[in-house]
Amino acid sequence: MSLVKTVAADVKAKADKAWSFTKKLVVFGGVWGLTFSLVTIGRLGVAFDYDDTLVFSTPAFKKAFDSGIQPYSPAFWEVVNNSYELEERKPLVWTAAWLFRVFGFKVAVISTRPPHGGEALKKEWRNLATSFYFAGGALNKHRLLKDGRYVLYFGDSDSDISEGRMAKVLTLRVKRSPKSTYKEDYNPGKMGELVIPFTEL
Ligand SMILES: [Mg+2]
Repeated sequence: MSLVKTVAADVKAKADKAWSFTKKLVVFGGVWGLTFSLVTIGRLGVAFDYDDTLVFSTPAFKKAFDSGIQPYSPAFWEVVNNSYELEERKPLVWTAAWLFRVFGFKVAVISTRPPHGGEALKKEWRNLATSFYFAGGALNKHRLLKDGRYVLYFGDSDSDISEGRMAKVLTLRVKRSPKSTYKEDYNPGKMGELVIPFTEL
């Protein structure tokens, strides 16, 4: 083959590749646009529990327990709610939340914690979370879940599964990190719910 022919074939291959990429991009854009419109029009939402679901927050609790403040007092919760710089986002759950957001879903964070001193924490999550609630107890969550058009709820505790079901929202189990010091209310799979793998990381 002459040099001209080789170059021509090379150019053609590159053009074909670019065209096939463009086609994929257009198809993806169409799928995204359609999903985004339907989800937005339907005002659909997804909800996430906070501790051990969206973040690994044991260090924030440890700081509050070590402070000598009466555990579970308002001052204790103020320490927990303002120690978010010690918390680690759980990569898989956090990414999933952002994907839902990109596809037009409202993302609600429903924390079991009471609201003491929680303004800064809410602000910290304002880009991802369209609403951030302090339920002030695990058994108050179903009321918040009934309030929106939630299609999915993600939580790590047994009570998250039962609260989600009480609100008739499909609830999926996120695994706790083995490093979490909170061990109660945790029997993944026991209620026949779907347990999402790799969410303990
Ligand atoms: Mg939790």
